[in-house]
Amino acid sequence: MLEKGLLKSEELYKYILETSVYPREAEPLKELRAITANHPNCLMATAPDAGQLIRMVLSLLNAKRTIEIGVFTGYSLLLTALTIPDDGKIIAIDQDREAYEYGLPVIKRAGVEHKITFVESDALMALDHLLEDNGNKNSLDFAYVDADKKSYKKYHEKLLQLIKVGGIIVYDNTLWGGTVVMPEESVIDRMKPGRQYTIEFNAFLALDDQVHISHVPVGDGITICKRLK
Ligand code: SAH
Ligand code: CA
Repeated sequence: MLEKGLLKSEELYKYILETSVYPREAEPLKELRAITANHPNCLMATAPDAGQLIRMVLSLLNAKRTIEIGVFTGYSLLLTALTIPDDGKIIAIDQDREAYEYGLPVIKRAGVEHKITFVESDALMALDHLLEDNGNKNSLDFAYVDADKKSYKKYHEKLLQLIKVGGIIVYDNTLWGGTVVMPEESVIDRMKPGRQYTIEFNAFLALDDQVHISHVPVGDGITICKRLK
C-alpha cells in the first residue's frame, strides 16, 4: 500500500495514514482492504487517503445519485455506499463481475447492497445506454472514474451530460505513480501507455472551461472536477 504514496517521504505518508486515515476508516472498508490484499491485482484498489477525500466530497455535496466506473473488489463503491443516504443510489459499472463478487459479501454484511445497481459491461457502452434515456441526463450528483485510462476523455464527455450542473466528477490515478514527470525511457514498459494517456488527459482537462478542477496528490493522484455549465 505504501508504495502508492506520491509524497517524497514514505514516513510522512505512513504518518497521514496512521494518524488521520486508518483510525477513521469504517470497519467494513478495513475488512475489504484486507481481503483485497490477497487479490492478484490488489494495487488497483483506491488508496485509503484518496478514499477519505472522496468521502469528504460526497458529504459536502450531499450526494444521493452517483455513478462509478471501475469497481474492482469495491473499495470506492463501499465507501460511497456507506456515505450516501439510505435511499441513495449508485450505478456501478465494471466489465469484471468476478472482482465485484469477490468483495460483495463484505458489502452485503455492511447492509448497503440495496443502494447499488451493478452493471456488468464495457463502460462506454453502459454510458451510451444510459444516455439513450433523456431522463438520465443532468440527473447525477457525483461520478467516480477509475477504469481504463485511455477512455477517460470519452468518459468525461459522456459524464458531463449525466451529472447535474454543480455536480462533481473525480478521476483516479491522474499522476500515474509519478511517471507523468519521468522521461519515457526511464518508465517500466507496463506503465508507459497509462503514462501517455494520463499526460494527455491532464492537458485536456486543464483547458476544459466546462469545469473547475483541482489536481490533488493523494493516493495515486486524483482530479476533482465540478461541472460549471
Ligand atoms: N475503484 C476500484 C478500483 C478499480 S480498478 C477500487 O476502489 O477498488 C479498475 C477496474 O476497471 C477493473 O476492475 C477493470 O475491470 C475495470 N475496467 C477497465 N476497463 C474497463 C472498461 N472499458 N469498462 C468497464 N470496466 C473496465
Ligand atoms: Ca485506481
